[in-house]
Amino acid sequence: MRYISTRGEAPSLGFEDVLLTGLATDGGLYVPESLPHFSLETIRSWRGLPYHELAFNVMYPFVEGAIPEADFRVMLKDTYSVFAHQSVAPLVQLDSNEWVMELFRGPTLAFKDFALQLLGRLLDYVLEKRKQHVVIMGATSGDTGSAAIEGCRRCEHVDIFILHPHQRVSEVQRRQMTTVLGDNIHNLAIKGNFDDCQRMVKESFGNQGFLGGKTQLVAVNSINWARIMAQIVYYFQASLALGGPDRSLAFSVPTGNFGDIFAGYLARQMGLPISQLVIATNRNDILHRFMSGNRYEQHQLEHTLSPSMDIMVSSNFERLLFDLHGRDGALVKDLLERAKAGPVSIEDYRWKQARQLFDSAAVDDENTCATIRQVFEANEYLLDPHTAIGVKAARECRRDTAVPMVTLGTAHPAKFPDAVDRAGVGVSPALPHHMADLFEREERYQVLENDLGVVQDFLAKHWKGA
Ligand SMILES: *Cc1c(COP(=O)(O)O)cnc(C)c1O
Repeated sequence: MRYISTRGEAPSLGFEDVLLTGLATDGGLYVPESLPHFSLETIRSWRGLPYHELAFNVMYPFVEGAIPEADFRVMLKDTYSVFAHQSVAPLVQLDSNEWVMELFRGPTLAFKDFALQLLGRLLDYVLEKRKQHVVIMGATSGDTGSAAIEGCRRCEHVDIFILHPHQRVSEVQRRQMTTVLGDNIHNLAIKGNFDDCQRMVKESFGNQGFLGGKTQLVAVNSINWARIMAQIVYYFQASLALGGPDRSLAFSVPTGNFGDIFAGYLARQMGLPISQLVIATNRNDILHRFMSGNRYEQHQLEHTLSPSMDIMVSSNFERLLFDLHGRDGALVKDLLERAKAGPVSIEDYRWKQARQLFDSAAVDDENTCATIRQVFEANEYLLDPHTAIGVKAARECRRDTAVPMVTLGTAHPAKFPDAVDRAGVGVSPALPHHMADLFEREERYQVLENDLGVVQDFLAKHWKGA
């Protein structure tokens, strides 16, 4: 499989190189040159498979040529055995034809484990083969950092540096990162905000000279194609569990960077019957404003009870825009250049094409809490604030009650106890067993000034080959 850039100017790459790259050199994101397509008959034949075998069938075309079949099977079996539920991604029914798919049974209690547990193993495999060493550098407002650290902690050929804004992530989130004590793990608490962290990471990728040419940076945010790829699988799993592919499904997806929901779009392109995808956002609603009014415009960042969706721009949306523009990179480049200066729209027929599949809703903190409360009263089931936004949006946007609606449950409620507390349901969510002693574990992290030179100096001195 070859991968091409959404801006049409960077060279195409194979899977291994895509795995080890951040943005393409033209500023675009990599996407497969063409997608595999599965017939209904093929999909039907996957009914009842264990998760890791389904994952093999869905993903193998993307890695073919880079990883032998048998090795990939072993890797997937290993990856999904760390999830604390036999079915990996269990479905919970809320109402008639309404479901939550729990994607938070992995080691860090958020859906990001599905991709990052695999990413760590893929990196180790490819780097061992190439006898190469890399440095992961990433910024986090919470969930990405812990999932990346858990996913890569055992990688022999990787040093991992995660920047988080000092004293601005929740205690559970911080401890999930800082209590992992490997030699190759470096948590940097930056005296600044998340945007400062992200800016430093971006500038470091743009100019890697501070590493002296002896190693290279690898991205772990969802611009990395391997993350998107791993998220396609659970759409198939949900469908097969609920009567697919002989009936279609609708999904509601709590959305930040548009990675998770883009995977659903790809599942549909690959042949899975999906009739509706609901983009569920919090008050940071650039995607909702685009979907409802064909106006793409950046607003100020708002801090909400669902911090993992607090974004101003959704990077993976570019991957959808590429398809909506007939895969013409020049058109995408022009559009995004203009978007820097002010609001932009796309041609009406392209926007209507997107609207055939996508609906959207923005949910504020008050309605997030109200939904947590409602679902708890009706079902004695506790939603985390991100998933609650998904459920609320699903209920607002549903087109056809005969079609099963599945909301992706993106995080465990114990990860966000403050929001659950604010909802006033009178119970507080307990951490699962494997994390019950989180607050007693030793922490290790470095507090650094909000200064690019200081951070780059730290990396240059502390990676394994330094
Ligand atoms: C990362 C995250 C999201 C947003 O996912 P995207 O792929 O960025 O759209 C939603 N909920 C939780 C809990 C997350 O950690």
